Formats: sequence, C-alpha cells, structure tokens
Amino acid sequence: MLIEKKKGILQELYLVEIIKGLWITMRNMLFSRKVTIQFPEERREYSERFRGAHYIKATNGVENCTACMLCPTVCPAECIHIEAGERPDKEKYPVKFEIDVLRCCFCGMCEEACPKDAIKLSNIYEMSTTYREVYDKSFLLDQRGGK
Ligand code: SF4
Ligand code: SF4
Repeated sequence: MLIEKKKGILQELYLVEIIKGLWITMRNMLFSRKVTIQFPEERREYSERFRGAHYIKATNGVENCTACMLCPTVCPAECIHIEAGERPDKEKYPVKFEIDVLRCCFCGMCEEACPKDAIKLSNIYEMSTTYREVYDKSFLLDQRGGK
C-alpha cells in the first residue's frame, strides 16, 4: 500500500524552488565572470596562431607569389585556383589567384607550403558577407593588407 507523503504548503506552491532558481539567476548575474562582449565596440584578443582570412603578401607593390602551384597542390579542400603567367623579367606570377572560402577549412597548409611566404592567413575573423564567396587576387592583395 502506497503511503502518500503530504506536501507542505511551501512545496505545494513551489516557493522554495522558485526562490532557489531566482538565487541562481541573481548569483550568476551579479558575481559570475562576464562571457559576452559588446561587439563590435569590444573585440576579443585572438591568438597569434589564429587562422583567419587569407591575404597575399607583396613587396614594392608586386605579389611575392611566383605561381609555383604548391599551395593548390597541398590544399585538402582544393579551393585554390591559380592561372600562371610570365612577366617580362621571366618571373612567373599568378594572372588569376582565387580562393573559394566556402570550401576552405582554414588548415593553414597553403601557408606552410609556400616557399615565397606569399600566402598568409591573417587573424581577421570577420568574414561573413552576402556578396563574396571567392577571394580574387585584387581582394587578397588589397583588402587584406598585402604587406
Ligand atoms: S587554409 Fe587549407 S583549405 Fe584553406 S586554402 Fe589553405 S590549404 Fe586550402
Ligand atoms: S605556394 Fe606560394 S608562391 Fe606558390 S603558388 Fe602558392 S602562394 Fe604562390
């Protein structure tokens, strides 16, 4: 035979539980470490090793890239597309250099493989856009510093 335990009036009204819940809310609100920030006025410090948006380095306005094709070869996502050309000084250069950032997994292998220190991943993490999914050469050179 089941013996029903008679609940007290406080338990019937859930008063104790409500007060406990309110206490947890107040404690977190007043004493916990702040985890949100007022972006974009406040920005988080990211590690120097953070791998964000790509850019191409240039020296005296000329891209360091010699279109050696190492980065598209190592890229596991196959998202780098380069068309090579030849400058009058016989140096190869990328006529077209595109990165499909929607496919990129930001592994950093292109940066590791580059013998000319040309392709880099910056610490820029604001990459959401409604108009651009492929970074072209001018964007990689100009918009991301190219220095
Ligand atoms: S970071 Fe990785 S996936 Fe992205 S372009 Fe470079 S090699 Fe390819
Ligand atoms: S590895 Fe470097 S030099 Fe070679 S194609 Fe890529 S960015 Fe250019």
